[in-house]
Amino acid sequence: MQKYEKLEKIGEGTYGTVFKAKNRETHEIVALKRVRLDDDDEGVPSSALREICLLKELKHKNIVRLHDVLHSDKKLTLVFEFCDQDLKKYFDSCNGDLDPEIVKSFLFQLLKGLGFCHSRNVLHRDLKPQNLLINRNGELKLADFGLARAFGIPVRCYSAEAQPCPQVTLDHMDTLLGTPTEEQWPAMTKLPDYKPYPMYPATTSLVNVVPKLNATGRDLLQNLLKCNPVQRISAEEALQHPYFSDFCPP
Ligand code: ADP
Ligand code: MG
Repeated sequence: MQKYEKLEKIGEGTYGTVFKAKNRETHEIVALKRVRLDDDDEGVPSSALREICLLKELKHKNIVRLHDVLHSDKKLTLVFEFCDQDLKKYFDSCNGDLDPEIVKSFLFQLLKGLGFCHSRNVLHRDLKPQNLLINRNGELKLADFGLARAFGIPVRCYSAEAQPCPQVTLDHMDTLLGTPTEEQWPAMTKLPDYKPYPMYPATTSLVNVVPKLNATGRDLLQNLLKCNPVQRISAEEALQHPYFSDFCPP
């Protein structure tokens, strides 16, 4: 840890605190994520270390690079490349007024990073604006993944805002898209822990939710939001969708 000079705190999440820091030798700016571990735990679970080592090998320009893992006693510090801000803060600063070309570029990069993860059999499982980091030059990188699988249950309870319970999320999606019927998703009722729940009709059309998105964009979104995984478009397929036909990656 002497290698790094801690600068300001940049985030506080489920697993620990994130600091901006400077490598004293190279002056490189990094993000340090300190993972809290339960006092009664016997150090870092080996499964977590294994998972983190896998993430170290996940090298892609749209995935935040994990430079190093510092491990001592009951502390674990992950050293990441530093990014300027997360997408949630960017959205908040734009007041909902997003440039459609930037939306396209961010989605393209998100799908590139995700497709790479999937090709390596890694699932993110917590995609949301707070976990997508961006740089001033328009780069977007996936962050904060693997840990869910590495550690299982978080040390600190999720707040309602940080992590809505599945039912809230499902209800929200159902009122927007309509509850999937058995016809649309035959395997649904065979899922473990499946419980019948209220059938909502779709209450609105995507045009009202994303009025600035053009018709091809709405078609892609509709395909990304399919509940039935057999029908849902994959990251690789999504990159080939007509929505991106006029997009030139930098
Ligand atoms: P948690 O598992 O606690 O949610 P995250 O890895 O998502 O941890 O980090 C929490 C927040 O810290 C992020 O939402 C982001 O704002 C900030 N952050 C995390 N990593 C970086 C990074 N490499 N560069 C800049 N900011 C970061
Ligand atoms: Mg996070």
